Amino acid sequence: MKTLLKNGTVVTPGGSRVADVLICNEKIVRIGEHLESPDANVVDVSGKLLFPGFIDAHTHFDLDVCNTTTADDFHTGGRAALRGGTTMVIDFACPNKGETLQYGLDLWHKKADGRTACDYGFHMTIDDWTPENIRQIPQMFEQGVTSFKMYLTYPAMMIGDENIFRALQELKKYGGIAGVHCENAGVIDALIAENKEAGNLGPDTHPKCRPDVLEAEAVGRLLKMAYVADVPVVVVHLTCEAALKEVEAARARGQKVYVETCPHYLTLDDSNYDKPGLEGAKYVCAPPLRKPADEECLWKALANGEIQTISTDHCSFTTQQKKAGLGDFTKIPGGLPGVETRGLLIYTYGVAAGRITKEQMAALLSENPAKLYGAYPRKGVLAEGSDADIVVYDPAPEAFIHAADSVGAADYTPFEGFRVQGRIDQVYLRGRLSVENGRVLEENGGIYIPRGKSSLT
Ligand code: MN
Repeated sequence: MKTLLKNGTVVTPGGSRVADVLICNEKIVRIGEHLESPDANVVDVSGKLLFPGFIDAHTHFDLDVCNTTTADDFHTGGRAALRGGTTMVIDFACPNKGETLQYGLDLWHKKADGRTACDYGFHMTIDDWTPENIRQIPQMFEQGVTSFKMYLTYPAMMIGDENIFRALQELKKYGGIAGVHCENAGVIDALIAENKEAGNLGPDTHPKCRPDVLEAEAVGRLLKMAYVADVPVVVVHLTCEAALKEVEAARARGQKVYVETCPHYLTLDDSNYDKPGLEGAKYVCAPPLRKPADEECLWKALANGEIQTISTDHCSFTTQQKKAGLGDFTKIPGGLPGVETRGLLIYTYGVAAGRITKEQMAALLSENPAKLYGAYPRKGVLAEGSDADIVVYDPAPEAFIHAADSVGAADYTPFEGFRVQGRIDQVYLRGRLSVENGRVLEENGGIYIPRGKSSLT
């Protein structure tokens, strides 16, 4: 099966050019000018941008959290991802304390295999530092899991500084990489207790209990632990200028630090928590939304290369689920839907707004996550020999985001009414036309992508 995309603008971090792309079965076999292939299905994509399929390296599908389960499972979440141009997600396999890494990995395969629309891989969450789990780390690598997640907050997930440090040392032996959720735990708990006692129970109290400096404190602490362990590390979902300063300090010490941020930290601010009742609850996530000045700081850091990836931290709940926290903000399930809208938002508020270039967008959404998490060059790039994961983006039309148009399982979007520039016309997943004009044509065509070691420099 051959497809020839004619006259699109092929976007790569190194530059863009008008070219033809010839796809044979699952792979890109040629990129060049005036390509001919008599037996190919020819598609005219002139005037369209061709991005490498977007990779979302931070999703939570089918996750049990806050006494409920995320609205999106791999079926609905994968479908929403693909519709938004994301051809691969890396979700977090998450065994509970007392369960083994292998149990968690097997469980995540059960959740995803055969029912996911986009390709997928798994990071492994280390939330229990036991001899058995330490023994199982090399077998994670054998199964294509080369990246790990740890938490400096949330009692159910934390393993403490000592074990985080030991884990960083252990992963270093195998060339693994860890992403860490950075917020101070103890002070946040104290602020929550203090506020609950004072009767401050609305969603507007949520950001007050998780201030930016407590994120910065944890980022600084992690980076000093990584300095002593002498390993590169990933700061996931960084939100603010205060935390970025800690990254700058670590880099000044000569450390290798990778930083991820998310669309909601770039386009939404903490005034959303002042919305009445359930409306404010829809924006509860951790770390919380910050100030407009932080958004601008993050955009600048994307433009100058201080931040390497934009993922969504997609962790969706319905309005009904968010209701659990009416009257007590600590019971609001934390997380936002976002997997479907990332490409449109970053193009609109990044590229079209002149904050970053389309070439930088290709790096932030595709090439860098592919390299950082060991899927490159199979994924993340439009090149001969790579998987034919291609987003055909028409930059001309203007549209608006509405939850009613979404194929995800949440019944709202935090970006309701946002204007977007452009439209995703087609998505090819390993050579198959899988989305066309907003319709998902293949609902379970995704496969597991085993990953190698990080190659981002
Ligand atoms: Mn997360």
